[in-house]
Amino acid sequence: MRIAVVGSGYVGLVSGACLADFGHEVVCIDSDVRKIEALKEGVIPIYEPGLEEIVLKNVKAGRLQFSTSLEEPVSEAEAVFIAVGTPSRRGDGHADLSYVYDVSRQLARVVRGFTVVITKSTVPVGTGDEVERIIREANPNADVAVVSNPEFLREGAAIEDFKRPDRIVIGVEDERARPVMTEVYRPLYLNKAPLVFTTRRTSELIKYAANAFLAMKITFINEMADLCEAVGGNVQDVAHGIGLDGRIGGKFLHAGPGYGGSCFPKDTLALVKTAQDYASPLRLVETTVAVNDQRKRAMARKVARAIGADVRGKTVALLGLTFKPNTDDMRDAPSIAIVQGLQDAGASIRAFDPEGMTAARDYMSDVTFAADPYAAAEGADALVIVTEWDAFRALDFRRLRGTMKSPLLVDLRNVYRRDLIEVHGFRYVSIGRPAED
Ligand code: NAD
Repeated sequence: MRIAVVGSGYVGLVSGACLADFGHEVVCIDSDVRKIEALKEGVIPIYEPGLEEIVLKNVKAGRLQFSTSLEEPVSEAEAVFIAVGTPSRRGDGHADLSYVYDVSRQLARVVRGFTVVITKSTVPVGTGDEVERIIREANPNADVAVVSNPEFLREGAAIEDFKRPDRIVIGVEDERARPVMTEVYRPLYLNKAPLVFTTRRTSELIKYAANAFLAMKITFINEMADLCEAVGGNVQDVAHGIGLDGRIGGKFLHAGPGYGGSCFPKDTLALVKTAQDYASPLRLVETTVAVNDQRKRAMARKVARAIGADVRGKTVALLGLTFKPNTDDMRDAPSIAIVQGLQDAGASIRAFDPEGMTAARDYMSDVTFAADPYAAAEGADALVIVTEWDAFRALDFRRLRGTMKSPLLVDLRNVYRRDLIEVHGFRYVSIGRPAED
């Protein structure tokens, strides 16, 4: 099958590469000339485990190509994915759909024959209707079926998630799209594919409902962690104790510094805005957004409290800057608010992240980036684990003890056990766990 993917970021590039890996002929398109030039040279513009290998393999096999121009790939494709960004619109928090609509206008001019246009970007309910309207207005002869097929992959595990998803949600209004979509995904499955067909609007809602629910679950356990700290409980035991209940499930119950990343913050906000527009407010989600926003900066205060009364002139070393491990994505990472909060209080910041330091430079200033955790910790008054990269799971605390000004570990991801840290002469502060075990 011939497929064009418009937008070659995290979602577009992973989707395109995986679809090619399953035998389709794919062209990944992007308006960013540098990105496409890099990809043509075999340089992968983002960090995602396994992506480079799968891209190079499929380019070599002739199934995956890159282009800055829509025209040829789209005119030859049976299915065209839109995978451009839908960031928060400045000022009001609605999803910015300008990229999606730009692409729709461009597509209208170049589609040839019956073509399924698939919105993979996360878009508010009703966007598919507007994409269809735009295409028909720009080219009344265009023979298209506009489908919603939201993406659920997680950065850091994107290839596995794309190839073996829990479900594939497909919203169709034109029945001709159904066999095409089935054929797109058929090679992923030997037996029955977990395809969930529904209407376009419902499909658009499913994506937001899923993200809002997960964001709520994280925020719930984060607030439980605060209560645990107040009353002397252990949030990890609470999470385990409730997670074993099949109706609740143990995933997404890790207390931490608040959710971040390129999806949850913007998608929860966009859903809140949509619901308000329809006079059907989602109060739980509104609260989730507010609680999470406040939590990130509260983490800076937590670090300051652990250090002592005044952090002015103190040096804080942060381990991990990206919003989660195994990605270089810094969008809405909790580290941004933590750094800002500590700097506002007068602290100097040193930081190390295995993959995120280049991107981090666009999000924070006056930070000294170190070559490794030990260089970051040199002379520091506190060491803070912000992101639970594997590289921070077996730190040499004897070495750290020798190099830090005062041995304090603030573990915002509960990576360690108190007794194993204190034995090295460190003070240890974590999330939602008792001061003494
Ligand atoms: P991204 O910013 O990494 O990539 C978007 C790409 O689209 C960029 O490379 C940009 O240059 C390109 N682009 C913009 N306008 C274009 C145009 N007119 N023509 C061609 N290319 C154009 O974004 P992403 O993280 O891949 O997210 C894409 C969408 O998928 C968003 O709606 C997002 O919410 C959704 N999503 C993201 C994830 C994730 O984990 N990143 C997961 C699920 C869904």
